[in-house]
Parts: sequence; structure tokens; C-alpha cells
Amino acid sequence: MRAPLYPLEGVVSWNMNTTCNYRCSYCTQRFSDDRSRWAADLPRFLEAFLALPGDWELKLSGGEPFRHPNFLEAVQALAAGGRRVSVVTNLSADREVLAAYCDRVRVRPGVISASLHPEYVAPTAFLEKCRWVADRHQGPLVITVVATQALLPRLPAWIAEAEALGLRLKLQPEKQDREVIDYAPEERQALIQLGGHGGTGRIDPNFEGRACWAGSRYFIVDHLGEAYRCYPARRYRSERLGNLLDGSFRLRPSAEPCRYRYCNCVVPQERGMVDAKEPDVRRTHEAE
Ligand code: SF4
Ligand code: SF4
Repeated sequence: MRAPLYPLEGVVSWNMNTTCNYRCSYCTQRFSDDRSRWAADLPRFLEAFLALPGDWELKLSGGEPFRHPNFLEAVQALAAGGRRVSVVTNLSADREVLAAYCDRVRVRPGVISASLHPEYVAPTAFLEKCRWVADRHQGPLVITVVATQALLPRLPAWIAEAEALGLRLKLQPEKQDREVIDYAPEERQALIQLGGHGGTGRIDPNFEGRACWAGSRYFIVDHLGEAYRCYPARRYRSERLGNLLDGSFRLRPSAEPCRYRYCNCVVPQERGMVDAKEPDVRRTHEAE
């Protein structure tokens, strides 16, 4: 097991709230409106994120992170502390608020990942808003859409419409009970041809046994401070890293073997934290 090179910039995916103003039919997350702990916990979250050793990017998501009552305050504090800030958002916030976000992350901008939800917004209007935001953001903006079976035939046109505006639209496979739904073989083929999950060229890769820096240079943390190595780790309630708010949080010292048969974490794949170039285990079986 050879580990990829040490990732100079670590990444935290922070699901900072569960609240969302949408109720998408394919949403895999809870969207409760419990606001009780938000304000009280924010200073301790910020302290913990700014104390992480080395260089880190904070990827803010939810729910819908712009619905967090202290969202811009958190962004400002993280940026002032030298962290790169990225966000995963449905982009429903007012343009004034979106512009304020772009301004606060100007010095060290991360990625804006704008998720298109056609049950709530017309794609053409959404793409126009994405263009407006991209013109104000110093970093990249990518668009994602959940590739439900019903939406599959419409995706090529939306991808082309985005491209015409100089934007990139990437797909997310639909999940049920946290597993990719049972696409028909021709649907899987279409998904792969359109780039696979997040442009990785894959739908549900299996990196079991490969060295991965998740747990050391990548981790996820929820709105209660519970930290796990990656999303599959949280799904199985294994490889918990402790709680960020009670002092029990510990990063692992190095890369360790992946224990999961389905990796839905695009960040470690994109950032070279796991060797995603070799054919994955499932593909090898499929080819046999
Ligand atoms: S916008 Fe995202 S978090 Fe909100 S309901 Fe839709 S899928 Fe869920
Ligand atoms: S599931 Fe993905 S992110 Fe998690 S340890 Fe395996 S390769 Fe790394």
C-alpha cells in the first residue's frame, strides 16, 4: 500500500446546519429547523478550525449554509484566520448576500459549488444567476445537479447551456438510503458519458484497501461537532475522530487504508488524497 504524496492543503467538509429552505424529493439529508445551538457553538467551531495544524480549506455545506444565521460572520472569521473558504449552496440567497460572500473570501477564495434543483428553480434563470455570481467570485464556480432518472434526458441540454455561459455543470448520482440508486445499464452508461459523479468519470467507485489521507488531511464534521474520517465513515458510524467542541477531536497522523466499498467523497479523489487513477475494484470485477 503506497500512500499518495502528503496533501499540503487539508480540507474540512463542515455540514454547519441542517436547515434548508427547499425540500427536494431526492434530498438525502435531514432538514430540521432546530436553531437552538447555532449561535452558542460558533465561537468554539471557529476556534477549533483555526487551530488545525497546517494549511486548510473549509468547505461549508448544510442543509443550506446561507440559512445559518451567522453564516457571513463565520466566513469572515475563517477568511481572516487565513483559511480558504468554499461553499456548497443552492444559490437561493439574495444577490446582495452572495456578493457579500464573494467579497469576504476575496483574498483566498475557494470553490462555489452551486446546486441546481429544478423542482424549485428554472434552469435558465439559475444558470444566469450562476454567471452573475461567477463574475464576482475570484475563485472557481461549478454547478451540480442530481441526475435523477427522470432528469437524465434533459441533462445534455443543460450542460450545453451552461457551457455557452462559460460554466461547468457536473452530475451527482441519485442516492437512496445513502447508496446510489439502481440505474439501468444504459442509464449508467449515459451518466459516465456525461462525466460521472462530479466529473470523476465514475459513479460509485470502490477504493477499498487503498491508502487514503482522509482522517488526516480531510475530514467531515456536522453541526454538533461530530467528526468522521469521511462520509462513508459517518454512514457506518465508524472511524469517528471525536468531537470538535469537547476537546476529544484527533486527526490521524498519516494515510490509512480505505475500508469502504463505495466512496462518494469527491474531495479526496480530486485532491489526490487517494489514488483514483487506477481502475477501481468494482470496475475490475465488471470487466471480468
Ligand atoms: S437544496 Fe440541498 S439540502 Fe436543501 S432540500 Fe434540496 S438537496 Fe436537500
Ligand atoms: S471512502 Fe473515499 S474518502 Fe473515505 S477512506 Fe475510502 S477513499 Fe478515502
